[in-house]
Amino acid sequence: MRLIVATTNQGKLREIRARLNCTPVELEGLDAHPEWKPAVEDGDTFAHNARKKAQAIAAQSGELSLADDSGLVVNALDGRPGVHSARFAHANATDAENNAYLLECLQGVPVSERGAAFVCVMALCAPDGECRLFEGKLSGVILGAPEGSGGFGYDPLFWLPKQEKSLAQLALEEKNRISHRGLALTQVLEFLQ
Ligand code: IMP
Repeated sequence: MRLIVATTNQGKLREIRARLNCTPVELEGLDAHPEWKPAVEDGDTFAHNARKKAQAIAAQSGELSLADDSGLVVNALDGRPGVHSARFAHANATDAENNAYLLECLQGVPVSERGAAFVCVMALCAPDGECRLFEGKLSGVILGAPEGSGGFGYDPLFWLPKQEKSLAQLALEEKNRISHRGLALTQVLEFLQ
């Protein structure tokens, strides 16, 4: 079975590929298809954006498509950056700029109030526009300084009290076992099976 993943984010693709390794699902990212135009992510919910991204690629490719809309929800920031996680610092922000900006926003906030969660909504859409949505969530605490060098995005600032590690200190397979994305993907696989 072939599945088009409606993303050019290499961090997401790496994790999705690893999770679907050894399954009959064959993946293709958008990098291999510059002729397909990605949707504009202008919704104010993860579900809206995930559906929009997968529907756009399913319609253009004529194949089953999977999209991941995800982000960091920080309690002390009233849920920000949320759907704007990729462009928190500014429109074309790098991961390092977003991380620096997050630390700035949380300056002076004590550890007890630095609770946060990663949320991932995956949309699996057919070319006729029909979709199924799947959601995963991972809770943690935002650190005062980055730790670890793995993963992508806000991983070095996301502390897992139970594991006593940041997400950036986990091996990819370990991250996939507990992460928002890994949990959503497990449901996608169960549905496909
Ligand atoms: P999207 O393309 O709008 O879904 O952007 C998702 C953004 O949320 C990413 O660019 C990261 O900044 C952040 N994000 C989502 N999932 C993760 C993760 O697993 N680790 C770190 N950051 C993540």
